[in-house]
Amino acid sequence: MFEFRKHVQKQGKGAAPGPSSAFVFFLIEHAKETFGSVRVRDILRTALTSWGTKTPYLSDGYPDLERCNNDAIASMIIGIANELTRAFGATFTENIFERAIGALQVKFAEGQVMAEVMPLVPAGFLEERKIRTLSKEELERKVEEKIRELRAVNELLEEKVQERTSELKQMLAANEKAAQLLVRRDFELTRANDRLRKLDEVKSNFISVVAHQLRTPLSGIKWTLNLLLNGDLGVLTTEQKTFLFKAYESNDRMISLVNDMLGADRIESGKMRYSFQPIQLLDVIDNVLYELLPQANARSLTISFGDRPSDLPKVDADPERIRAVFQNLIENAVKYSRNGGTILIGARKEPHGMLLVSIKDDGIGIPKEQQKNIFNRFFRASNAVKAETDGSGLGLYIVKNIIERHGGKIWFQSAEGDGVTFYFTLPVSKQPASNIASEGSTVGNAG
Ligand code: ADP
Repeated sequence: MFEFRKHVQKQGKGAAPGPSSAFVFFLIEHAKETFGSVRVRDILRTALTSWGTKTPYLSDGYPDLERCNNDAIASMIIGIANELTRAFGATFTENIFERAIGALQVKFAEGQVMAEVMPLVPAGFLEERKIRTLSKEELERKVEEKIRELRAVNELLEEKVQERTSELKQMLAANEKAAQLLVRRDFELTRANDRLRKLDEVKSNFISVVAHQLRTPLSGIKWTLNLLLNGDLGVLTTEQKTFLFKAYESNDRMISLVNDMLGADRIESGKMRYSFQPIQLLDVIDNVLYELLPQANARSLTISFGDRPSDLPKVDADPERIRAVFQNLIENAVKYSRNGGTILIGARKEPHGMLLVSIKDDGIGIPKEQQKNIFNRFFRASNAVKAETDGSGLGLYIVKNIIERHGGKIWFQSAEGDGVTFYFTLPVSKQPASNIASEGSTVGNAG
């Protein structure tokens, strides 16, 4: 229980203590019981320095309450209230305040306590008492003040709400505009797409008609040149033969270009027809190699069939299309080899019912950064273009399509200047094997 006399003995030697210093004394004593006197001294010092009040101290390190001004007293009350609230909650602190006021009322007139102590009690504590001390006018003034405060807050809120609403409206309008734009773009894109599809159809038809129309005269030219070169139409001089042979080669290139264009067009329009039957790949390879032998010889290339397996199973394939695959890949190997190079062909049975074919050359290779494009339509690597070899960039596109249509895969390994190895797989025929491959190891040897 608060002992006011003790406070007088401790603090005051002269003037009688006022209710505010008695109030803080009560709080200090209570805090000492709770936190211990050393801690309370620190709490008071911190409160007094952080509020910047000048305070006289006693020899025991405690503030001299008798000589403290109201600011210092208020700082100490806040410091203790904060500490009590942090440790035990606001209700506990409120109770301590109530008890202190009760103790003061024993010694001081209520009016004096209310007038001197209440202004020092921090906001949020003893609020009911504070209101009770107010006169009717003061109370009305306070209520008006509160109403004004509330109105100001309300206005601020309304302003903020309006701001947010107009922001939202703007966002909605922008969204709506974006949505409209998107719809319009979508519409335009669909129309452009339709136009492109129609154009593509026209182009496709055009290529198809032109290529077909070209095929017949080109075959005619080939046939005539053959007659001339064979001497069927009279003996030719060596010079005449040389020029005719050049014409024959150019014509052949033209035929292969026209075939590639027709092939790519058929793939795109879905008109590529397949007729599958069990075939022996070794026969196809032999056939293609035989045809390419003159070209390989002209370049002094060696083409060999590594470990030619004698029991290679058949595959279910379209003979014409698979022939085109070998024709393209081996022709490329010849075309992109350096004179005197070597081409190695391999074929073997793999696990899981697949055949693996490889075609390896030691030619110009494919630059790393362009390898991802190699199966794209019309793509030709920069080193191939620079080497001034003829080509349409359609061959590998067609080859990949054919292999995949057969249920196989195609890929390659290469480094620029270091040749290419193309690999592809084809599923082994499901029909019982009857045809065993013919024997032999080196198929073509030029030089
Ligand atoms: P192209 O008619 O140009 O040979 P392809 O579609 O057959 O067209 O090949 C596409 C490109 O792939 C070629 O232009 C070339 O850059 C590259 N390429 C294909 N095969 C080889 C190879 N054996 N060696 C080096 N580059 C090759």
